[in-house]
Amino acid sequence: MNLNSRTPLLDVAVIGGGAAGFFAAIHAKNTTNSVTIFEKSAKLLSKVKISGGGRCNVTNACFDNELLSRHYPRGEKQLRRAFYQFNAQSTVDWYESRGVKLKTYPDNCIFPQANDSQVIIDCLLKECYDKGIELQIQHAVKTIKKENDYFVLAINDQLVYAKKVIVTTGGQPKISGLKWLEELGLKIISPVPSLFTFNMPGNPIRELMGNVVEQTTVKIEGTKLTGKGPLLVTHWGMSGPAILQLSAWGARILEEKNYQFSIFVNWLDEQKEEGLRAMVQHQKKEQPDKMLSNANPFSITNKIWQFLLQKYELPAQIRWKELEGKSLNKLVTALLFDKYDVSGKTTFKEEFVTAGGVHLSEIDFNTMESKKIKGLYFAGEVVDIDGITGGFNFQAAWTTGYIAGKNAGSN
Ligand SMILES: Cc1cc2nc3c(=O)[nH]c(=O)nc-3n(C[C@H](O)[C@H](O)[C@H](O)COP(=O)(O)OP(=O)(O)OC[C@H]3O[C@@H](n4cnc5c(N)ncnc54)[C@H](O)[C@@H]3O)c2cc1C
Repeated sequence: MNLNSRTPLLDVAVIGGGAAGFFAAIHAKNTTNSVTIFEKSAKLLSKVKISGGGRCNVTNACFDNELLSRHYPRGEKQLRRAFYQFNAQSTVDWYESRGVKLKTYPDNCIFPQANDSQVIIDCLLKECYDKGIELQIQHAVKTIKKENDYFVLAINDQLVYAKKVIVTTGGQPKISGLKWLEELGLKIISPVPSLFTFNMPGNPIRELMGNVVEQTTVKIEGTKLTGKGPLLVTHWGMSGPAILQLSAWGARILEEKNYQFSIFVNWLDEQKEEGLRAMVQHQKKEQPDKMLSNANPFSITNKIWQFLLQKYELPAQIRWKELEGKSLNKLVTALLFDKYDVSGKTTFKEEFVTAGGVHLSEIDFNTMESKKIKGLYFAGEVVDIDGITGGFNFQAAWTTGYIAGKNAGSN
């Protein structure tokens, strides 16, 4: 293909009109002339719209780059460096300086004060409009080819030429969605779901749906995987931050196990056996004649307490002063090593993220440029990066989008 002087040549073509694509385009346009976003669907920023239950958990109030990076099961090391260019504080400053008021909740999640994801969309659209970025919807990029020092993109039935290309096509549920990138000679990690809840078909714990225990530690049998935090019992099994953390950190291992595995719940956070036995001694002194079923001294709901007494066959009539030997051992197991079999998974509130995508080793994280193909950049979930819930996935999109855009636009 030979370009003549009348062939339009874009400075930067951005493929994908999601969070990462918009951020990349906006930052590319700061230092270059023509930037176009090509979006295959009829809607721009559709995931931003539905994110966080329509409220958009835009980032997390974790302002230490080292700590922030620890929320990414994949991409931790690479993001730690990238956050020195654009981190959670940068996100807050960027939106607030454009008039989007943000609010931090007790769990550190940051949402727009308006509690509406549309304010984020409006801000990004206005920024594109003000900067003169072209938006093309229903433009699906089928292939990219590098010819000499420019790229040829096959979009619908036409060819588009660009000096630089930023790929921000998001997570793909199937490897087939990444074939076109594989054909460029890039190493691709096959996608698996992350962020899901655990199914426990037939388990009576499900009758306690809605019960939450605020501080738990959950371990997956036969692995080192540990989740910490609130645990929610649901009508299909278990959910809540402790479970979602395990689903993210264990995304690949659990897929290999075909989502058939067992977990151990410590209902008392990180309490050890010795500490629990001391608590029991204290309780024996405080309420010796009270029946176990009438006196629950632990930070678990009464319903869960009754359930555990029944599950471990601790007689309802037994009094605290009578708790010795085998019964005491049973109580220790019930509270610290409570076992459940998991069979299958359920998507968390339709919020899903994929582990997998363009291999981290393919990308120079100082610039987000491909190491093999100069002028080709990546940002967002198309890269093998994913975070746990709490605004971390958008933060990765803002950070990598910023870096890719800045560098694609600058030379
Ligand atoms: C229901 C839900 C709720 C969520 N809530 C939150 C939250 O509150 N906080 C948080 O941090 N994370 C949340 N996430 C995760 C977050 O939405 C994603 O991590 C983030 O959107 C990734 O941004 P992205 O730009 O990389 O990809 P996407 O947002 O997926 O955008 C990629 C875009 O590329 C387009 N595209 C794909 N292929 C092509 C092609 N060949 N040509 C042209 N266009 C193409 C797609 O149509 C899409 O519009 C949520 C996810 C879901 C599903």
